[in-house]
Amino acid sequence: MARPPASSPDARRRMMGQARRDTKPELALRRALHAAGLRFRVERAPLAGVRSRADIVFGPARVAVYVDGCFWHSCPEHATAPRANATWWAEKLQRNQDRDRETDAKLVAAGWLPVHVWEHEDPLVAADRIREHVLARRTRREPGAQ
Ligand SMILES: [Zn+2]
Repeated sequence: MARPPASSPDARRRMMGQARRDTKPELALRRALHAAGLRFRVERAPLAGVRSRADIVFGPARVAVYVDGCFWHSCPEHATAPRANATWWAEKLQRNQDRDRETDAKLVAAGWLPVHVWEHEDPLVAADRIREHVLARRTRREPGAQ
């Protein structure tokens, strides 16, 4: 479906839709994870064949973290439906959701854990949640642990 004319310069920028890198919520989360003593890579495709890069990747633990924008990923609390070009937007945002689910399914099938963090989440709380996953998955792999 072709992109209809934008209703404003701001809308146009959103419609062009380049996902921004190193957004403020991403940086805050990375800082919190670092402070928690975790090491990771950023902006990596965890799997061959998965098109979208994860924002934060823990290779050995196989945890892929995505910081999802409230608008682009239709956060239940802050999702907004643009009124101009409503149908086009509805389809585009639906495709985003479908793609997220598809990516998650591929990761799970390959033994990865996808973790989604909303951009509105407290980075410290999110970092805690991620840390627990990473530590649990590291421990499980160590022979003779516990
Ligand atoms: Zn939100």
